[in-house]
Amino acid sequence: MRNVYILGAGASEGAGLPLMSNFLERAKDLTGIRKEPFFRWGYDILNKDREKFLNSLAWYFQYKWMRRAKIERTEDGKVIKVSFGKKWLSLILNNERVELNFENGRTGKFIAKKENGELNIYKWDDFDDIWEYINVHKLENFNIEDIFGYLEMKIDINSLDSDKNEDVHIRNLVLELIEKVIKWSYDYSDEEKVSKYSMLLEKFVKKLKNDTIISFNYDVLIDDCLDKNGLSPDYGATFENKESSKSDIQLIKLHGSLNWKICPECKKPIRLNYDYLTERRSKSATKTEYDVNDLLSNILTICPKKHNRSYMIENTLIAPPSYIKNVPHFREVINELRKSASEKLKIAEKIIFIGYSLPQTDTYFKYLLLSSLPEKEFSVEVVDPNPQNIAGRYFETFKKNDISFRAMKFEDYIPSIPE
Ligand SMILES: [Zn+2]
Repeated sequence: MRNVYILGAGASEGAGLPLMSNFLERAKDLTGIRKEPFFRWGYDILNKDREKFLNSLAWYFQYKWMRRAKIERTEDGKVIKVSFGKKWLSLILNNERVELNFENGRTGKFIAKKENGELNIYKWDDFDDIWEYINVHKLENFNIEDIFGYLEMKIDINSLDSDKNEDVHIRNLVLELIEKVIKWSYDYSDEEKVSKYSMLLEKFVKKLKNDTIISFNYDVLIDDCLDKNGLSPDYGATFENKESSKSDIQLIKLHGSLNWKICPECKKPIRLNYDYLTERRSKSATKTEYDVNDLLSNILTICPKKHNRSYMIENTLIAPPSYIKNVPHFREVINELRKSASEKLKIAEKIIFIGYSLPQTDTYFKYLLLSSLPEKEFSVEVVDPNPQNIAGRYFETFKKNDISFRAMKFEDYIPSIPE
């Protein structure tokens, strides 16, 4: 039986990874966990807490004068001024923000949050730019891929105006966020849950014979599992640093993968090992331990030509559907992947969708699917805990009434797959 399994985010949920629908919520939680308040607005900064307050400011802004500065606070408590001679910094409390202004024109902001009766002040970090952008552009109801599509459209429209690079900045942050949230979710997920999931996944890959997996997931759970069972995945695309492996199992990742990178110098795709993504770090690990730059040394030695131009997050070959057309060297890989997927679909006897909702952002896939449908008789199965929410889209796509829906999770479905 030639099966083609099509995996969406629901297939990785068992390992604690987020779905498209809760990705941003998860991202907010995870990026928030790591923060301690920088200071409290209610500190007795004129007396008891004076030194503590000034030292943290001096350390953060790297201005020595702040250690010996004079502090003034307006009567309504909304403005704090810190000054030393002609130098000064003002902190103005404005709803959920603290606006910062320096005498030299430098500006900045902090976040103010009411928590347990205290007004806690947090440092602004890069990901806060994303939340602010979502807020300003009223994108609260968008999921992460919609936001990506929106950004790509804006980047396209403004392409003549290269100074308008806020959208590019946010787009790159979103890419980084995707990478980190997947990694963090895996690390923070319950140990027992992860090991139960891995055992079932192992059962699944052992049942695969001449089968193909088409995945929309960026994570490397399946890749790693295949590898551990001596089945190096055949990705259906060419990588500079590895012969395309002649594995029986094709794993075609249509939206790319966290372990695929583009060498910044020769622009050739390379694939990394999975260890840095699948090794679970301790929950007490600090944010800097997750810095993408960790990977730099890895990458440089891996490009067969030993190129050493600095690696950036844009070099990770993950491609939410709207992104592909703008990145020529991604496009080649993605075209190759689509071709491989199409070939496998054409000879499929059974197509099984797992945790995949046929979302609108993947309209291209509907066309890929319809233009590659097998000529011979084939069956369609959809595995999802809540099939009633997605059945309509499947009926409409396949124009077929005999689709079988299995109301269950991927992990519960695995034991029912015939050996
Ligand atoms: Zn290179």
